[in-house]
Amino acid sequence: MPLTTGEFATIKSIKDRLPGPPDPNQVWIGDDAAILTLPGGGWLLLAADTVVGGVHADLTLTSMADLGWKAMAACISDIAAMGGEAGYALVTVAGPPGTDLDGLYDGLAEAAQEYACPIVGGDLANARALVVTVAVTGTCDGPPVRRSGARPGDLLWVTGPLGRSAAGLRLLRSGVMGAGRDGPEAESLIAAHARPRARLAAGGAARRAGATAMIDISDGLAADIGHVADMSGVGFRLTEVPIAQGASRDDAVGGGEDFELVFAVPPGSAVPEAFAGLDQLICIGEVTSDPGERILAGRTLDPLGWEHRW
Ligand SMILES: [Mg+2]
Repeated sequence: MPLTTGEFATIKSIKDRLPGPPDPNQVWIGDDAAILTLPGGGWLLLAADTVVGGVHADLTLTSMADLGWKAMAACISDIAAMGGEAGYALVTVAGPPGTDLDGLYDGLAEAAQEYACPIVGGDLANARALVVTVAVTGTCDGPPVRRSGARPGDLLWVTGPLGRSAAGLRLLRSGVMGAGRDGPEAESLIAAHARPRARLAAGGAARRAGATAMIDISDGLAADIGHVADMSGVGFRLTEVPIAQGASRDDAVGGGEDFELVFAVPPGSAVPEAFAGLDQLICIGEVTSDPGERILAGRTLDPLGWEHRW
């Protein structure tokens, strides 16, 4: 498999080389987190996420503390996308001599406290580029929600308006070039980019409300809802994408790292009740039976999301 192949083809190639789970109730590769079944009953979730300086984070625009926070939040978001609770984290940092580990670990520790996910170990290594890898465990008191369970007729919900992170990054970039980035809306968008939130409570609520499939929006709505459709063997019709204040439609459809959750539930499920007091829940469309159908507002949806190149 050449290194220029897309990330998802690469994952399939890796999966084909490794043994699969002996138990059909387990998922080892290909979902937001791996699902393991525990001998005494219950589920264990495992997820890992890597942030590379200069690739996933522009180190001239991102503080080390923000980078640490984001690395933890992004990984914990994968536990949220299964409907799980965060457990423990391992953090591995490879970087050049002089890397500001104090700043990095300040941000990691803040996120660990916020999500009650203590950092219990990891590794340090010298490397030319900064690479931060977070691995987390999670637990679930019911079957975790996979990407593969959406059924025709299910309604699709998202846990909030989209595009805030992409809009915040644009503001940061324009700010570097001298344009204004003041005001509460700009600050809120920049914070959405610098300190994204993992929707753990929302993921649990969606699971308890009967979600059949779920994913966190890390690569963009178009790409991530496409993964749900691919793995469920279904299509979708979205009425419209909810655009966050200050964001553009492209930010909302193609911008990643909002870490809102999108999930499917059978019609009639008590979704709004399950989310009382939680995130701003929006129904965006429905699941259809034709896997080739990928519609947004009457038009075929291009997967604008950013697929990492290898
Ligand atoms: Mg994910």
